[in-house]
Amino acid sequence: MTIGIDDLPVRDELRGQSPYGAPQLDVPVRLNTNENPYPLPEPLVDRIAERVRDAARHLNRYPDRDAVELRTRLAEYLTKTSGHRVGRADVWAANGSNEVIQQLLQTFGGPGRTAIGFEPSYSMHALIARGTGTGWIAGPRADDFSIDLAAAEKAIAENRPDVVFVTTPNNPTGNAVPASTIIALYEAAQAAKPSIMVVDEAYVEFSHGASLLPLLDGRPNLVVSRTMSKAFGAAGLRLGYLAANPAVVDAVQLVRLPYHLSAVTQATALAALEHTDTLLGYVEQLKAERDRLVDALRALGYEVTDSDANFVQFGRFPDAHEAWRKILDRGVLVRDNGVPGWLRVTAGTPEENDAFLDAVRELKKEQN
Ligand code: PMP
Repeated sequence: MTIGIDDLPVRDELRGQSPYGAPQLDVPVRLNTNENPYPLPEPLVDRIAERVRDAARHLNRYPDRDAVELRTRLAEYLTKTSGHRVGRADVWAANGSNEVIQQLLQTFGGPGRTAIGFEPSYSMHALIARGTGTGWIAGPRADDFSIDLAAAEKAIAENRPDVVFVTTPNNPTGNAVPASTIIALYEAAQAAKPSIMVVDEAYVEFSHGASLLPLLDGRPNLVVSRTMSKAFGAAGLRLGYLAANPAVVDAVQLVRLPYHLSAVTQATALAALEHTDTLLGYVEQLKAERDRLVDALRALGYEVTDSDANFVQFGRFPDAHEAWRKILDRGVLVRDNGVPGWLRVTAGTPEENDAFLDAVRELKKEQN
């Protein structure tokens, strides 16, 4: 007899659910998970090997539990790129920003508490809420996918959430949220009840605008989360981090697993941070390719949401899933996020983007 999940005594809220994850299909052009298409440069690969070799000599010991050197270097990176002074005590790191978000919800959410996000947005916020027993509130967005401040403030006042998520630039829509909206939402949330506001800046290096890190000044309940998965081209590394008031960093210590960041991870991330300038050079190329995709899609007659990220949301399709399948038939994998009428494409190399544009050009001809 085969046993299925439903035969096991799993928690009620997990019954009938599916795990998160985009299809990992073997197709020539994969533009579906917002990865950076450029492999790490060889000098960096050599530096990682060197640093990991050194770390390997001490793998009989647990790693630095507080990741002091790594947090120092991350703080320097944030200070240099935002102009806002960030210190080591303001930074915390974990295995991907997903783990950062999980630790924040374990600390500030949990049973009997709620979190709100403005949808469509990054669906892992809701899933991690479920996994941590935090109630989820799906807040609204306007038809153009911007945050309608009055509607958002109303949702906050009515629900009095313990955690507020704002993703900017937003995934999957690509548009950024103005600083003035973040400030107003923070104030609305604090007026409703003391709560934590998480600004998820996973894609901020690709933005036309600046990071919201300066907003941390005077806002002790604000957290900015970041990742090395996108701009640093290191999705396989699994390194995410946050910047906040040091008290927030102290609070997440209560839920983090001891030695959660392996010595190998810390060594690899430190090597990558030594090559920031080269890696950010790729970001400039990707921004130019992202802008090219936006222009080309609009020229073809598609509707495109303004993008500050390394991906572009385009539509509208009477049946987005069917369009997704037809693009896939032409060897290009994009993302069907379940936003009715829309698909999302990640900016790849110029050749990959050309292949994608050829595919959607043919699709448009077929539709006309
Ligand atoms: N936040 C957003 C908005 C994302 O799109 C992603 C990745 N898709 C993440 C966080 C998580 O990234 P990671 O765990 O790789 O740092």
